[in-house]
Amino acid sequence: MRYFPILIDLAGRLVVVAGAGEAALQKVRLVLKSEARVRVVGEGPHRELVGLAGRNRIDLIDRPFRPDDLDGAVLAYGAHGDPALDRAVSAAARARGVAVNVIDGPEQSDFITPAIVDRDPVTVAIGTEGAAPVLARMIKARIEATLPSGLGRVAAVAAGLRDRVARQLRDGAPRRRFWRLLFEAGWGEKPASVAALAENLLADDPLEPAGKVWLVGAGPGDPELMTLKARRILDGADVVVHDRLVDQPVLELARREARFIPVGKTPGVSSISQGEINDILVAEASAGHRVVRLKGGDPLIFGRADEEMAALHAAGIEVEIVPGITAASAAAAAAKISLTRRARNQAVALITARGSDGPAEHDWRALAADGSAFAVYMGVGQARFLQGRLLLHGARSETPVTVVENASRPDERIVWGTLAQLPALIGENGITGPAVLLIGLSPAHQGAMALGAPGLTSRGAA
Ligand code: SAH
Repeated sequence: MRYFPILIDLAGRLVVVAGAGEAALQKVRLVLKSEARVRVVGEGPHRELVGLAGRNRIDLIDRPFRPDDLDGAVLAYGAHGDPALDRAVSAAARARGVAVNVIDGPEQSDFITPAIVDRDPVTVAIGTEGAAPVLARMIKARIEATLPSGLGRVAAVAAGLRDRVARQLRDGAPRRRFWRLLFEAGWGEKPASVAALAENLLADDPLEPAGKVWLVGAGPGDPELMTLKARRILDGADVVVHDRLVDQPVLELARREARFIPVGKTPGVSSISQGEINDILVAEASAGHRVVRLKGGDPLIFGRADEEMAALHAAGIEVEIVPGITAASAAAAAAKISLTRRARNQAVALITARGSDGPAEHDWRALAADGSAFAVYMGVGQARFLQGRLLLHGARSETPVTVVENASRPDERIVWGTLAQLPALIGENGITGPAVLLIGLSPAHQGAMALGAPGLTSRGAA
């Protein structure tokens, strides 16, 4: 991020627009959205500028720009539309420490004016660092469509209620709950209805919330693969307790004020224990917080959800589960493999390669049978063990296998081959990240996927 977005208070402060033609007129219209004083300097001002100056706080000076026009200014626009004149404005502004913007002159500019969605006092600013103005306009159009035109009035009512709410409701969860309920129900409503709603909510004491825990599936990594419900609940969380496998783009969907507690368990590294995680969940919910326990994939698949639910149940805390897309589904989708197929496999198993201590044992004879298909979680370090057990129990060495690492993430890789090649597939491709091994399954259209030699190839590798 080269340009850092901030919102600047212009009430009563001076903004200088150098130039008095069409381009200057546009800048003046924009700046007039704020409460700034505006000084426009330029020869032979545009007719509409003269009209605007008559009706607004504009000091219109009909002569060429001079550096001392910038005295007392906080922002300046070089808006002659003439590169030489605007360069001079930029140099003068920079010499005086006044932040300057020059039309079509990023090198001469200290700031850019974003595309703005105006629901005063709510504003949304969209910037692309000049890379894609068309994209900025498309984003603006979408945001315009989702924010009701009355949203600013809702915010204004809220501003008027702040002191009263501060007196009446305890800081923390009760206040947040009030605002959340008010904005949820008042979103886009008329000011009078929002005010009435606020009265009802404030009369409805106690607003003391009971804490609650949501076990939420964050999906395999791509934030678009989260459910709408997961997103909504994450957006309302006071506390987010998350796994190592939950990526930043997903965490960004939480409220900025939410408290994040990482409780990742790295295989083989002594880190936080399940008991400690249970204690955190109970403590946070008991304090009245809305706690989201965010887990990679689906919370009910290799997620130790039962232990957390038991601890919460014992403490009398309400639990709700929001399912997610599990890694095996994402891996199959990435490799375009159907997990079941008529006349091939009527069932598919999800197995873990790691037990509570060491490699997990399974009904290997059933897994090794012809036509069997299963997804192995936590299997990257156990490839040789898996291969050995399966071959020992009669699996064909040419049984197809597909390994999908970082399914749905930008660094996703897919490699495939045979059971005989399994350890090499993982070792020679340097697969270390979270991966699912799909055994008995291979991509349906291998030709379309192969970038290098078939067998040991991947999409992500160069
Ligand atoms: N609850 C999770 C699984 C947790 S166990 C789910 O439903 O997906 C952790 C294992 O999940 C990892 O060792 C790996 O085998 C698998 N995994 C998680 N995210 C993955 C991803 N994006 N790509 C491939 N495998 C993944």
